[in-house]
Amino acid sequence: MSKHDLYDFNQAFPIINEDTEFFPLFSQQDEEDMTNESIPEILPILPLRNTVLFPGVVIPITVGRNKSIKLIKEAYKGNKTIGVVAQRETAVEDPLFDDLFKVGTIAVIIKMLQMPDGNTTVILQGKQRVHLVEEVQNEPYLKARINRFEEKDKPKGKEFNALIASIKELAMQIIQLSPNIPSETGIAIKNIESTSFLINFISSNMNTDLIKKQELLETVNLQDRARIVLEQLTVEVQLLELKNQIQNKVKIDLDKQQRDYFLNQQLKTIQEELGGNSPDLEIEELRKRGKSKKWSKEVNEHFNKELDKLARINPVAADYSVQANYLELLLDLPWREFTKDNFDLKHAVRILEKEHYGLEKVKKRIIEYLAVLKLKKDMKAPILCLVGPPGVGKTSLGKSIAKALGRKYVRMALGGVRDEAEIRGHRKTYIGAMPGRIVQSIKKAKSSNPVFVLDEIDKVGNDYKGDPSSALLEVLDPEQNNAFYDHYVELDYDLSNVMFIATANSLSNIQPALLDRMEIIEVNGYTIEEKIEIAKKHLLPKQREQHGLTSKDISLKGPVIEKVIESYTRESGVRGLEKKIGSLVRGVATHIVMEDPVGPSLTMKDVEDILGAPIYDKDAYENNHVAGVVTGLAWTQVGGDILFIESSLSPGKGKLTLTGNLGDVMKESAGIAMAYIRAHAQDFGIDYKLFDKWDVHIHVPAGATPKDGPSAGITMLTALVSAFTQRKVRERLAMTGEITLRGKVLPVGGIKEKILAAKRANVRDIILSKSNEKDIKEIKESYINDLHFHYVTEMSEVIDYALLKEKVKKPIDFSMGA
Ligand code: ADP
Repeated sequence: MSKHDLYDFNQAFPIINEDTEFFPLFSQQDEEDMTNESIPEILPILPLRNTVLFPGVVIPITVGRNKSIKLIKEAYKGNKTIGVVAQRETAVEDPLFDDLFKVGTIAVIIKMLQMPDGNTTVILQGKQRVHLVEEVQNEPYLKARINRFEEKDKPKGKEFNALIASIKELAMQIIQLSPNIPSETGIAIKNIESTSFLINFISSNMNTDLIKKQELLETVNLQDRARIVLEQLTVEVQLLELKNQIQNKVKIDLDKQQRDYFLNQQLKTIQEELGGNSPDLEIEELRKRGKSKKWSKEVNEHFNKELDKLARINPVAADYSVQANYLELLLDLPWREFTKDNFDLKHAVRILEKEHYGLEKVKKRIIEYLAVLKLKKDMKAPILCLVGPPGVGKTSLGKSIAKALGRKYVRMALGGVRDEAEIRGHRKTYIGAMPGRIVQSIKKAKSSNPVFVLDEIDKVGNDYKGDPSSALLEVLDPEQNNAFYDHYVELDYDLSNVMFIATANSLSNIQPALLDRMEIIEVNGYTIEEKIEIAKKHLLPKQREQHGLTSKDISLKGPVIEKVIESYTRESGVRGLEKKIGSLVRGVATHIVMEDPVGPSLTMKDVEDILGAPIYDKDAYENNHVAGVVTGLAWTQVGGDILFIESSLSPGKGKLTLTGNLGDVMKESAGIAMAYIRAHAQDFGIDYKLFDKWDVHIHVPAGATPKDGPSAGITMLTALVSAFTQRKVRERLAMTGEITLRGKVLPVGGIKEKILAAKRANVRDIILSKSNEKDIKEIKESYINDLHFHYVTEMSEVIDYALLKEKVKKPIDFSMGA
């Protein structure tokens, strides 16, 4: 046999063993063929350990036992016919006659093969069943006398046919359900015509034990055998179906797991290929960063717990990035990471002086504050609150304090904060949750003890989403802020080393509870002189530097700066001025680049060329040619301002009309003034009948700007008296004060702003309540030395001073109207 044949053979019979049955081949010859042949009396008997050979069926058998090899070799040389019988006990190595079943099969050796592993394989074909009668010899191998096994008549009839059809059907089902049986077997079964061979073939292949198979071999009647086979097949089909069901279920479960695992593995690979960190790496990285933090044990435990949580989340799930962001925040936050304070007060003074002009009182107070801080070494001093109009340097003072102390600086604008969550954060479970602004700012500062400016604390609103002021209270309260709880961070954060500085435009809008915790430092507006100095010493150098120019390229003389201030700005601070100076510097830069140089010292004309025509000029005292028009002083968010109260009379029925976008308080002032004049008409020399015959109209320009407050009281009254008497108002006079029905003049606020505005407007005399005298004393002498103050307590004093005896040029002829 060629090597090639051997190969082919092995393909067909991959597993061949004496003890293991395999798919038998078809018989070339039917069982019946031999029935009538004479059978030999004595046959060599080959014991089979595990198999029953059925007539007609071909099986390969590996022969291992010495006795058996001898037997096969001799028989193969002779007539190739042997008897094969199953042994009762598989384990018996050298079976004697009595160890064998007594019904066996005559077999023909079709082929004998020497296998490469040294074993001998024979291919046997069963021929006919026989009885073993007695042992003839035991050595060198077993021989026995045999007897014909009588077959009964072949069964026929419907029942038998139905049996065979059922068997075929079940056999087909089994083949389908068992993936190990080649599908060709099905075709073979369909094509088997001989019913007895069909039964034998299936008996041989059936998945039953040896005893059952032997029982089948010993069953005489074909119909009985068919019945047994059918029973066995039915049981097997049921078993197989059940097995498949279980397997399918297990397989589906496994499949999903495998699929997920496979996809995750792929995802990891893709992420690595893309250069991004795989989730594992990312988690490792976070853990490493966590180890280098100086945070407390409690925070450390929390961090590790949250990190373990992250490790359990599927990296493609949305939760993953939420959790990762959270851990990043914990790592980015400074925990007990302090910068070292520089308490050299001389250094601090130098910085404050260098960066801010004027503001002596404010600077002094700041230095005191730092001195206390140095001695006390904790921040339980009240929080500083700088109050004043915009652009006076409140925020930049905060910055200078940070610089002086060598601390980090952060600023948080509170304007428009209405929701408590903006301060305190959202719980992590909300979609898009974020930490509050306090924590975000601390993160930005990268230190646990920055100078923290809470800008515009008076602009904090509140609405249905909770009150941000109460959260701020906790932030600012030295007793509570060592454990500030942010909903997002879920841990207490110690704010007690932060130096808070608040700023506000006006005190009236600050929550009383907040106000309680702060020490107020007023930063007032600047006079023109101060502004000129600030512009020269700070704003111009700053702008020059920002635009890459030097003093050789642009300089501004005092009067030019004054023009810029008067014609192009209207403010208490210097923010607008800084912008205008910036425009000038840019204008000069453009000229230089276009090789059309101006300056370096700019003239008034250069200023107009660059900034355009003057914007403001109305802010000046006008004349006193008309009766009923008086100059008042007002306080606005941007500082002080002058305003005109205009009143006019027209024949009518004594109606009072008010226009100019006035608030309730201001309207009431007008009512009080009217009532006072009516009551004291005689004192002022007014015919009381006039009140019923003339309509009064009071207007306050500019009509589009809302105005309110009681401080225009004396101005309105003066205007009305002037209108009804047609007396001239003193020139270059302005006034501010509240009135009562009894004719008292009460003090009002914002005096410094108002006085500075009056000065700007070229006013000379100012009437104020006596109680406001102390406010004037606080203003630097040099700013107000050309102003004259007239302090009053009674309305009559106001009229006496404000109105001249002389009438206006074209007075109303009251007799005409009546
Ligand atoms: P505020 O916070 O009061 O609204 P800022 O601090 O923003 O005002 O000041 C506006 C600009 O004016 C800043 O550039 C600041 O440097 C400058 N400035 C204000 N006051 C002074 C001053 N006294 N000396 C120098 N520069 C000043």
